[in-house]
Amino acid sequence: MKKTPIIHWFRQDLRISDNPSLFKASLKGSVLPVFILDDDNPGKWSMGAASRWWLHHSLESLNRSLQGRLTFLRGDPLEILPALAASTGAKEVCWNRCYEPWRITRDTRLKHKLREQGITAESFNGSMLWEPWEVHKSDGTPYKVFTPFYRKGCLGAVPPRMPLPLPVKMDCPGPPEESLPLEALELLPRIRWDRQLEPHWTIGENGALERLAIFLKDGLPGYSEGRDFPARPNVSRLSPSLHFGEISPNQAWYGAIAAGTGIDLDHFQRELAWREFSYGLLYYNPGLPEINLQKSFDRFPWRSNPELLDRWQRGMTGYPIVDAGMRELRETGYMHNRIRMVAGSFLVKNMLLHWHEGESWFRDCLADADLAINSASWQWIAGCGADAAPYFRIFNPVAQGEKFDSSGSYTRRYVPELARLPDRYLFSPWEAPRSVLDAAGVSTERTYPEPVVDLRVSRQQALDAYSATKNQP
Ligand code: FAD
Repeated sequence: MKKTPIIHWFRQDLRISDNPSLFKASLKGSVLPVFILDDDNPGKWSMGAASRWWLHHSLESLNRSLQGRLTFLRGDPLEILPALAASTGAKEVCWNRCYEPWRITRDTRLKHKLREQGITAESFNGSMLWEPWEVHKSDGTPYKVFTPFYRKGCLGAVPPRMPLPLPVKMDCPGPPEESLPLEALELLPRIRWDRQLEPHWTIGENGALERLAIFLKDGLPGYSEGRDFPARPNVSRLSPSLHFGEISPNQAWYGAIAAGTGIDLDHFQRELAWREFSYGLLYYNPGLPEINLQKSFDRFPWRSNPELLDRWQRGMTGYPIVDAGMRELRETGYMHNRIRMVAGSFLVKNMLLHWHEGESWFRDCLADADLAINSASWQWIAGCGADAAPYFRIFNPVAQGEKFDSSGSYTRRYVPELARLPDRYLFSPWEAPRSVLDAAGVSTERTYPEPVVDLRVSRQQALDAYSATKNQP
């Protein structure tokens, strides 16, 4: 008799190890692994170019691990999965949960639809240490401030589940005839600008596990201090892998516990908890990607200035640390966290451009672009978020460069036209005497621009705009 498979629907859990839904399915019988590209449902929040590029390679890697047995489909899962269950005779469909608002709505409808067809539909937690509804204040409401969320909420909750082992046996039938080739998902750009991203990453589950192992050995010792310095090897660069689920946060959490101690371990766990906090914010505020959490910001006098925006996007603001970050983003699909904060602050405070512009550019260019974390972080930077940076704390890009890239190696790498400028002028080239600029081959007409805004003036404008907004009735 032909065996009827259980469908495991891969989404943001592109791994075999520590995959609760896949593990459970593999214990029950033959598993049909399926990935469905759903470009239409997210609407304006659809995946950006760098994420699509990452996804292509991640699926390729996953398919290799599954010996070519991954089924690729494209369209609305609400239609596709019930039809696939009918055509393959599957009596069970399972998946790991996602938390974007449209996915929650769609998945709930899908569960009903499958159950009406007599098909078991089950979902699992495969990407959070604690799901948003598991961490709340004693009165049952969600935390709005990070520190109590982490200290009381997370650390006071039941510890996250331990990572699961690999499925002992994976009996996968070959893909059904409606399966598409991976290329038919058209995830790669037509003009192959993505080639420049390739040397920076090993994409897929093995690459993620390798990055975690290197981080635990070389990055975690000293993480608490070193994580702020973009040229130091103290950060894990796991964010795209966590986003696509090539690795679970549980693997990172328990890996760190096994390898680290003290303040470094605590700080890394805190960062993983910031990810959880952001997911909670999105879960309880589905409008987070668009709507200011602090209503007073609805009156904020954002500017519209395409030329300034273009200079920021191209890394030509005239502020070297900002430009280094923006160029790192384009060249690698990643930007160091400290520099995300500096470049973000520059956009929303010194340029007074709307945080939506930053959110959208990052969503397009970051391989780790994540609706919850990106929106929450931009609201934090803009000052309108739940637990936002105090508005008056405006990052000074000169001081930030001097403090966190004092040797200039990060800035010189991404802004090579300033490479020969002495350290003293690296973060403020406009202060260098003509003779120094000439000797370093720097010309404001030909190589590197004058600053687009004056730091002191723009800072004051931001503070004035903020107090006017706050003081309006
Ligand atoms: P590590 O320091 O090694 O941290 C480990 C993991 O903890 C990260 O991979 C990430 O999952 C989580 N984490 C670390 N810092 C934060 C944080 N501040 N908030 C939430 N989670 C965190 N991160 C994304 O994953 N996707 C985004 O779209 C994103 N957009 C951002 C936009 C802005 C304006 C800012 C300021 C930050 C943004 N971040 C985003 C958060 C942070 O910059 C990245 O998670 C981090 O730089 C990833 O590098 P890493 O993996 O080496 O981090």
